[in-house]
Amino acid sequence: MSLNLFVKCKECGAIIERKKFIENKYVCNICGDYEVLDFKKRLSMILDKNTFEETNAHANFYNPIDFPGYLEKHESIVNKTDLDEAIITGRGFICGYKVMIGIMDIRYMMGSMGVIVGEKVTRLFEDAQDNKIPVVMFIASGGARMQEGIFSLMQMAKTAAAVSKFSKEGGLYISVLTNPTTGGVSASFAFLGDIILAEPRALIGFAGKRVIEQTIKEKLPTNFQTSEFLFEHGFIDLIVERNNLKETIGEILKIHN
Ligand SMILES: [Zn+2]
Repeated sequence: MSLNLFVKCKECGAIIERKKFIENKYVCNICGDYEVLDFKKRLSMILDKNTFEETNAHANFYNPIDFPGYLEKHESIVNKTDLDEAIITGRGFICGYKVMIGIMDIRYMMGSMGVIVGEKVTRLFEDAQDNKIPVVMFIASGGARMQEGIFSLMQMAKTAAAVSKFSKEGGLYISVLTNPTTGGVSASFAFLGDIILAEPRALIGFAGKRVIEQTIKEKLPTNFQTSEFLFEHGFIDLIVERNNLKETIGEILKIHN
């Protein structure tokens, strides 16, 4: 059997026909596990065909604190993937409605937020504000970019300010939390959506579970920091299966059009 015709589920080990797996939007039909998507798969699933126009592509690599090994790590990812940063931004259409869209991709340093991610997110909201169109953001992030120290943390304030300005002008921001949404990104623009959607069973939180348990010296529930737990506690508006995601976003855009 050709390996290309089948995929193995990372969670339950089931061997699934690749064609079926793709038709099912990269969700295992046996255990329901969601494969983490790269930006191209996400784009093709969400945007209307051939409507994507990238903005602010190819920013120059920047090492604000001369962190050792950072450039080498960047270059190795550039050589291995189609990415040169952890977010792709642009404009396009969803169910016929024009949007600005941002898609984070964890293949680039765990989707962490450094100066360039902060700048691209900010420009995305500024463009949306100038053109009076909604923003749809797909979050996938390990948090702040360690290699950029304090400069990385400053992006939390910067992106939050951009969202706030956009919001004051009456802009609509739909944030979609996917696996994983953690750290400085969850503590800034990820949770500032007017409407916050999440994919099922995604890991969503700020600090890691173990760190919190050690700090508060208490055991946390097993489903702590999942989409479902956060939904129950009012942090998320709706958990949406990947199969219904585009239509759900289209419906929200229609209501607010
Ligand atoms: Zn499975």
